[in-house]
Amino acid sequence: MPDRPAPRPRGRQFFANPGPTNIPESVLRAIDRAAVDFNDAEFVETVYHPARAGLKRVLGTSAELFMYTASGHGAWEAGLANLLSPGDTVLIPESGFFSDQWARMAERLGLRLRKLDADWRQGADPAAIEAALKADTAHEIKAVCIVHNETSTGVTLPLPDIRAAIDAARHPALYLADTISSLACMPFEMDAWGIDCAVGGSQKGLMLPTGFSFTGASAKAMAAHKTAKLPRFYLDWTIMMGRGFRSFVGTVPVSLFYGLQESLRLLEEEGKDAVFARHARLAEGVRRCVQTWAGANDGPQFYCVDPGRRSNSVTAVLMPDGHDAEAVRSIALQRSNVSLGGGLGRLGGKVFRIGHMGDLNEPMVLGTLAAVELALRRAGVPHQKGGVDAAMEYYAAS
Ligand SMILES: *Cc1c(COP(=O)(O)O)cnc(C)c1O
Repeated sequence: MPDRPAPRPRGRQFFANPGPTNIPESVLRAIDRAAVDFNDAEFVETVYHPARAGLKRVLGTSAELFMYTASGHGAWEAGLANLLSPGDTVLIPESGFFSDQWARMAERLGLRLRKLDADWRQGADPAAIEAALKADTAHEIKAVCIVHNETSTGVTLPLPDIRAAIDAARHPALYLADTISSLACMPFEMDAWGIDCAVGGSQKGLMLPTGFSFTGASAKAMAAHKTAKLPRFYLDWTIMMGRGFRSFVGTVPVSLFYGLQESLRLLEEEGKDAVFARHARLAEGVRRCVQTWAGANDGPQFYCVDPGRRSNSVTAVLMPDGHDAEAVRSIALQRSNVSLGGGLGRLGGKVFRIGHMGDLNEPMVLGTLAAVELALRRAGVPHQKGGVDAAMEYYAAS
């Protein structure tokens, strides 16, 4: 018989992953119901259409919205497949694991990749994007794909500045933005920021289970879609527009729509600006704590070296040399039942990530930070004490 893993300590798990995230009780209750016929008029009129309209408000768009029963990767693929043709060139500036993954997908789909290398610890500079577009005098680049909030590194990129860079280069490329880990956590305005295709998912700021994702599509995107020839069926926008749902080629995930209706109600009850302010404030407490642990730069550090780009939904913490992030994560989980994010791709073992997005308050953050500080002690990782206290000082004063 294989060894069974030791049972976790009793008590509520503190879930501090940067996706999936905590699902509010009221959302769980809303989802907990028997299946309904997705063509049922009452469902369509009182749940589906209002939720679809609410999701457009969250995205800040009055343009088209298409949804898929798929995780975020499905919406990434939908954006590329509906907008581009085999052999088209896409510019995907490097920001971390997720920009790499989107780039791998583009190549696999038969697109040409124009790379723009950038330091993962700060992400691409809009001036470098502008230069790359200016150099493309033949306008071979058909799309610029940006990960708004690089969840692997905790770096947020300035989407409006990148729009300005595309405009300054007078380049006609489509602008695709992955807002999977920024939506409903920090400002994102698809129409006002001139984004042609916004890619989002259910299990991060929207506080839902994994299982549905979506893309907003501007008028310019819809025009490009008409001539885009990459093969697609389940993800095809034209097929979707022929259906009353204007989404979902196949069964509509009705349970998730009951959940979405409730999560939108929670977001609108609190108010967009208040939701963003809460994330900013909770994130700042995490940063005060990490800054304290760093001590004289011999403790754990911010992975993101640009203070202006530190994310309000996830903080990636770089371990001091010779110390394993997985050991800290495993101690936090096994001893304290606190679940943290690990390092992705080349950051494996070097970084752990504290997710602070979605349904979150001060005691959840402070409890998580205390368990991390405890795990640093237990693992013998050098750090300056008092991180949790620094977070409390900040919360008390703000
Ligand atoms: C989570 C995430 C993805 C991938 O989404 P899945 O739902 O895991 O497929 C893509 N981009 C970013 C920025 C993410 O945070």
